[in-house]
Amino acid sequence: VQPEQEGVKNICCVGAGYVGGPTAAVIAFQNPGIRVTVVDKDAARIRKWNSQHPPIHEPGLNEIVRVARDGTNAATIAIEGGDTVELPARQSNLFFSTDVARCVSEADIVFLSVNTPTKYTGIGAGAATNMVALEGATRDIAIAAKPGAIIVEKSTVPCRTAQIVRDTLEVHRPGVPFEILSNPEFLAEGTAIKDLLNPDRILIGSSQTESGLAAAAALKDVYAAWVDRSKIVTVNLWSSELSKLVANAMLAQRISSINSISAICEQTGADVDELAKAIGLDMRLGPKFLKAGLGFGGSCFKKDILSLVYLAQTLHLDEVAEYWTQVLTINEYQRNRFVQRVVRNLHGTLIGKKITILGYAFKKDTSDTRESPAVEVVKTLLADNPAEIAIFDPKCNPENVKDEIKHLFATTDTADSHKVYKDAYDASADSSAILILTEWDQFHYPPLTQKDSAFHKSDAPPQLNSTRPQKQATLEAEAALEADAALA
Ligand code: NAD
Repeated sequence: VQPEQEGVKNICCVGAGYVGGPTAAVIAFQNPGIRVTVVDKDAARIRKWNSQHPPIHEPGLNEIVRVARDGTNAATIAIEGGDTVELPARQSNLFFSTDVARCVSEADIVFLSVNTPTKYTGIGAGAATNMVALEGATRDIAIAAKPGAIIVEKSTVPCRTAQIVRDTLEVHRPGVPFEILSNPEFLAEGTAIKDLLNPDRILIGSSQTESGLAAAAALKDVYAAWVDRSKIVTVNLWSSELSKLVANAMLAQRISSINSISAICEQTGADVDELAKAIGLDMRLGPKFLKAGLGFGGSCFKKDILSLVYLAQTLHLDEVAEYWTQVLTINEYQRNRFVQRVVRNLHGTLIGKKITILGYAFKKDTSDTRESPAVEVVKTLLADNPAEIAIFDPKCNPENVKDEIKHLFATTDTADSHKVYKDAYDASADSSAILILTEWDQFHYPPLTQKDSAFHKSDAPPQLNSTRPQKQATLEAEAALEADAALA
């Protein structure tokens, strides 16, 4: 491996998902001299990346992809004070393809950015990571990669996965030199581009051999195109792999901590928002991740904690496993408390009632619904036979949401009692309760009360008209907001 001398000219990212797509796009955008190709087995996903509508919604993603994928003409732009700046023309250097073998074979650096879900969805015990995708992609890379290529774990993986990758490479290409790095991704969905452009840190784990350190230096150069070198931290492979699991576990732990305190607040008259502000002013604690609410969702926090618990169990560290399991227990407890409270406020039954759900994504500014608290809430509510569950989310595709809910239930009866709307007012009309389950900006008070606010808009054309019972919807939504705040 002699990346420093030769310089990185070609990068291939295997996996065009929420991490692979945006990460590769930003690397290409910031390194016009490097050819970056994102490959995926999912042809439909690749087609979308090659269209004007990427398969995922992230603020800023479209613009970055267009510049890097399509290239730009030279331009002169005006800046403050009457000065102008010349922007050079740039050629396309971001490509999306299904030809995994060819693209891998051309790359100096290959990112592994495939899905690493959990094998189990309950919380009673830890769960090993499902390594099927990672093992498959590693095999494909092992067969195709050129000698000396640097293989980078971008996926979140159990500690010591680099050894599995190394063994797989050795089985398929005995004696061929490859270097393996760990470079976990810390972006958060909804702010992926912002996080990638201005990361808190870039973490690179490598073996402490001469070639390992050289490979780390080559990857460091790629990031140094836009990230200050002082923010690029190099550590050993196992510290890097474990850091990602621990970072997510500790973020989730803060959410469960404040949510557990919200239960105490509700019975004592303390206000959890006031409390969060008061304790967050302590510089040792800081204000972030102290917002009580429905608990965390998304594809990462729960699975990474399950993976950490599993690791502790396999190391016979039972108390440690138990400690981290509690973070998940409180998360589920909080969601159940919310649903129970809704049902209690509706006189103990949902039968014959319409319940509106505003927000279905697991957080604002994303269309991702994986492990969304809303999914679990809808599931529990539907079990109580409401007349209708009416769902509106500004970014989630209504057809996808409808299909997803159908899959949650075995009986067609229950599946039929939910409807997905393209308009928040339609979803809210004649509802007994409006539950705001994703904190999209347009659901925030006070815009909610303004007649022509963005409240109702989805990606579909807005359908607000004068016959809609706006006032009723607005009042109910306000009431729901208050109830939500009370719970929080
Ligand atoms: P994803 O499911 O959106 O994307 C993974 C992609 O990999 C899929 O499109 C799949 O088709 C593709 N794939 C699987 N096997 C393949 C193979 N052999 N060849 C080619 N393509 C293959 O997953 P994601 O959300 O992007 O997550 C990827 C990894 O990043 C996971 O390990 C996850 O834990 C981690 N991560 C995710 C986030 C997040 O916010 N989503 C943040 C940080 C880290």
